[in-house]
Order: sequence, then C-alpha cells, then structure tokens
Amino acid sequence: GLERLEAREAIMNKLQEKGFVEKVEEHQHQVGHCYRCKNVVEPYISKQWFVKKEFAKSSIEKVNSGEAEFFPTHWINSYNAWMSELRDWCISRQLWWGHQIPVFYCRDCGHEWVEEGDVPTKCEKCGSENIYQDPDVLDTWFSSGLWPFSTLGWGNGDAFKGELWNESDIKDFYPNSLLITGFDILFFWVARMLMMGENITGQLPFKDIYLHALVKDEKGEKMSKSKGNVIDPLVTIDKYSTDALRFTLAVLAVQGRDIKLSEDKLEQSRNFTNKLFNATNFLQLNQEYFEDLDPANIKTPLGRYMLARFNIAVKETREYMDIYRFNDGATTLYRFLWGEFCDWGIELSKADKNSISELGSIFKASMRLLHPFMPFITENLYMRLSQDSLENGDSIMIMPYPTASEIDDEVISQFDLIMEAIVSIRRCKTLIDKGNQKIEKASIKLPLGVDTDMMKPFIEKLAKVEEITFVDSKIDNCVTDVSDNLEAARACLANQAVRSGINC
Ligand SMILES: [Zn+2]
Ligand SMILES: [Zn+2]
Repeated sequence: GLERLEAREAIMNKLQEKGFVEKVEEHQHQVGHCYRCKNVVEPYISKQWFVKKEFAKSSIEKVNSGEAEFFPTHWINSYNAWMSELRDWCISRQLWWGHQIPVFYCRDCGHEWVEEGDVPTKCEKCGSENIYQDPDVLDTWFSSGLWPFSTLGWGNGDAFKGELWNESDIKDFYPNSLLITGFDILFFWVARMLMMGENITGQLPFKDIYLHALVKDEKGEKMSKSKGNVIDPLVTIDKYSTDALRFTLAVLAVQGRDIKLSEDKLEQSRNFTNKLFNATNFLQLNQEYFEDLDPANIKTPLGRYMLARFNIAVKETREYMDIYRFNDGATTLYRFLWGEFCDWGIELSKADKNSISELGSIFKASMRLLHPFMPFITENLYMRLSQDSLENGDSIMIMPYPTASEIDDEVISQFDLIMEAIVSIRRCKTLIDKGNQKIEKASIKLPLGVDTDMMKPFIEKLAKVEEITFVDSKIDNCVTDVSDNLEAARACLANQAVRSGINC
C-alpha cells in the first residue's frame, strides 16, 4: 500500500473527485509522539510472535512455594502483582541486533517450520533450497532470560566445548545460589529468567534474589544530569579511593531503603582506610612480618582478648552476609577494627609489647574478613604484613574466609573491667584538672577475685598513673568516680561496681 501521508492525499483526491467533500478545516486533537525522536506515532497492524502466558505458570507456583526467596522479602508482592496481570508476551522485534527467530519458510511449497538445530539448507517438506529465515529477532529480554544456563554451555552443541565451557559447568553451577540486581528489572529480567529456567531445565535458576537499593543523592533525590546532583563514581574513586566508595555503599545498603550517598559518608570511609594504614605502620614499627593466625598460638591476655573480639566480629559478619545485610556486616567490621582493635587494642599493646606479634596475626586475619568490603587495601596490607606479594603468592581473595573459634567470655570481662577502670580514672583526673597529665597515685576498688597483677600495667599505662593501688574498701578523702559495669550480666567477675579514686 501507499505510505500514510501519500495515502491521505490520495483519499482526499478521490473523495473530492466523487463530490463527497463539503469543507476542509483545521482541527486540533491529541496525537502521540515518540519520546525520543518526537515523530508522530502511527499505529500499525503487523504480525508478531508471542509466548503464551501459561508458559510462566509453573515458575510462579515454585516461587510462591518458597523455592526462590526475595531479599527484601516484600518484593515477592511486586513479583506476584506483575505475574497476575500477565498477557501473552510479544517476543519478536524488527531490529538488526539480536537472536534471529529460528523460523524458516519455503518459497516453493509454502511450508513454515521451527528449526532447533543448525541453520537448514533446504525445506524439510519438499527439499527445495529456496528457503529463508524470518527476519525478526527476539526481544532482548527473551535472550537475557536464557542467561543463567546459556552461559554454561547450554544450546551450544559441541561448539567451543572444553575451551569456553566444560561439560560439567551446568551440573556444577546450575541452579545458582544468588542473583543480585536492581528492582527496576524485576519483571523484565528476573521473572523471565525464572520462567525460562523452569521450562527449559525444569529447575528455577537461583535460590535467592537480592534486589539492591537505588543510589540517590544525600537529600534522597534521584541523581540526574539536569539537576546537577550526580556523584560520578570515577571522580569519587579518584578523590576517595575505590575501597572507600565500595565500603560506603555497603554501609548504606540497608535492605528496603534507598542509598543516600554523601561526601560526609565517603570521607568517613576514607578515614577508615587511613586508620588501617596507621595500624599497619604501628605494627611494623615493632615487628616487620607476622605469622598467619593460629588461635592456639595466642597466649598473652591482650592477644586472647583481641582474638575473642575478632571471633565475635567473624561470627556477626558471617551471619549478616548470609542474610544479605551488608550494612550490618560493614558496621560490625568498622566497630571491631576501629573501635576495638585500633582505639583499644593498639593502645593497650603499649603496655605489653609481647602481645604485638599476636595482634599482627589477628589484624592479618581481619584483613581477610574485611576483604569483600575493601578488596584493595586489605590485599595490600595483608601482603605487607606477610612479606609476600600478589606476584609471588595467592590473593587473599581465594584464601578461606575466616571462621570463628570459641569465644573466650572470661577474658572479655577482664578487659571490660580494665577499660572501665581506665575511663573511670580519666574522669577523676578531669575533675582535678589533670585530664591529660601523668599523676602519681590512684586507687581502684575492683570486684573480688580478679587478676589485678595482669590488669595493673594496662591501667597504669593508659590512665597515665605512676602507681595504681588496688583496695578493697571504700576510698576516703579523694576524688571518687563510681561506674556501673557495662557487662554486668556477662560474667561473675563483673558483678560489682568499679570504684576508683585519686588521693589528693
Ligand atoms: Zn522515535
Ligand atoms: Zn518446501
């Protein structure tokens, strides 16, 4: 037929010719335009290929019976909403790029067939070579829906076997454990993979589906070029480092909430990387290289305390990663490495140099624990502390992820008391305006039965007191500070208040 604009003119001429036209006038009405090129959209009836909606049925049932799980869980509602409004899926596109639809036509006998194998050379019915393939290609989501198994050699015949894929790949890696993607393609991609996998292989392609947050600006607004609030990852990496950006995103990735990315948060993560560098420098001032962690070799009280804290961090980080709470995992590591290891552990080690080799081993193991969150700096520091390099040794990426050994609660309550005593004496010193100076004497009343000999040097060093005396009665005539035990319920050692005082 004629092109539409030519046809309009021809019809007008015909009508006029026959004397059917009374008048021609301007008329305003709504016309759809293409959002990209602004051309008028003209409906056009054409023949297309469709997949029946029933194709999705068994995958919907399996997902709803719990064979696949969404994180955050509420996404199953969106999935079901999409699937309940399902219509037959138009899978043909009139584009150049894509998988060409494997339907063939015979020009001689009119036969039409689908070919599962290689491209045929003649008509399967009459043998004529005068055949052609449907010029349409598959919808891109039809092809991407095959991704979970087409990457594992499925549909390749023997092509590239042993070179690009191995026969066991599909058995080893299908179904997969986890898919991570954005919620905006939950229907287009995730639902299609589920239905394709279920129908073609008989199994859903993955067990867990983690839908991650959208990264927005600090005010929670969507980044856009026109608003000028785009934080460019490449610029950010130049300014703060890749690890700082990655860690920031992890810390902010609260399930079910958008990420509000800000310079403040990035700075905080960069400071964290500095802290780790400084810790390494401190350790190496005392000893150049450190053994890999073996809990049986950790003997000093401080070493055992740091090991206990490390074990808690390992346990928590693993638990959080198992349920995809990356923000809680990152926060745990930040608390352990900054608060417990650097702020206390390193300071306390100044009162017991023998513990430093043990702390170095624990720090190395901590770098492995932190590795998924900060891959570059952890690798670098681990190698530095091991007298190793990536060129000579294995990356920590492929080393086993740390596991927790038994947590020593007793040493934790001992050190909780030590730290409580230090803080308490520091408060006393502030009261007499000697906040940062060394003082001669202080007394502490500790709960009965604690190992005061072990505690003494730590308290003296960090509270800056020449001589600590342990007393068992109320301290008179002095500045006194009484503090509750933060860990009162934790162990019998810690069931009394710490009382410290400075005679003046
Ligand atoms: Zn257009
Ligand atoms: Zn034929």
